[in-house]
Amino acid sequence: MYTQPDLPYAPDALEPAISAKTVEFHYGKHEKAYIDNLNSLIKGTDFEDMDLEDIIKSSEGALFNNASQAYNHIFYFFTFSPTGAKEPSGELRKAIELQFGSLDAFKKEFVDAGVKIFGSGWVWLACDEDGKLLIIQKPNAGTPLTDGLVPLLTFDVWEHAYYLDYQNRRADALNKLWSIVDWDVVSSRYDLD
Ligand code: MN
Repeated sequence: MYTQPDLPYAPDALEPAISAKTVEFHYGKHEKAYIDNLNSLIKGTDFEDMDLEDIIKSSEGALFNNASQAYNHIFYFFTFSPTGAKEPSGELRKAIELQFGSLDAFKKEFVDAGVKIFGSGWVWLACDEDGKLLIIQKPNAGTPLTDGLVPLLTFDVWEHAYYLDYQNRRADALNKLWSIVDWDVVSSRYDLD
């Protein structure tokens, strides 16, 4: 059985980028539903004792969708902090500057990729086993885990992620997220060892 981890910040801590109301609906209702569905789908099956990442890599259909959405949302919400590092550091900073030219150029390319996803999905920064960075667009519940890549950062582009606060303005919603991304968390995921 999976339990939903408590967020390490108050519901209003991410304002104005994400309102308390959106955190309460998005994490408290949408994300909780994915975890509840996951638990009912794995009950009494071979998946019951598997790690969430292993379930994602070895399932399809409703189980994949709910397992991946459970994972993606925890990954997303635990990237944010009202007081986190505002820029990447160390090896990740070097890799971003080498591959994208600058942090600002990376941010623009990442948001553009998110804006261009047709319908619901996720835009990801991931890396391969050599540390090469990749911006990846995934529809619906998609995750780079199924491509054998390491996820580093994701923005949720489902309308439920931003509609209460930004209505149809997806680009505005995504650009605002840079103010709450904790780059220490993202940098720590980029472990080349
Ligand atoms: Mn979502």
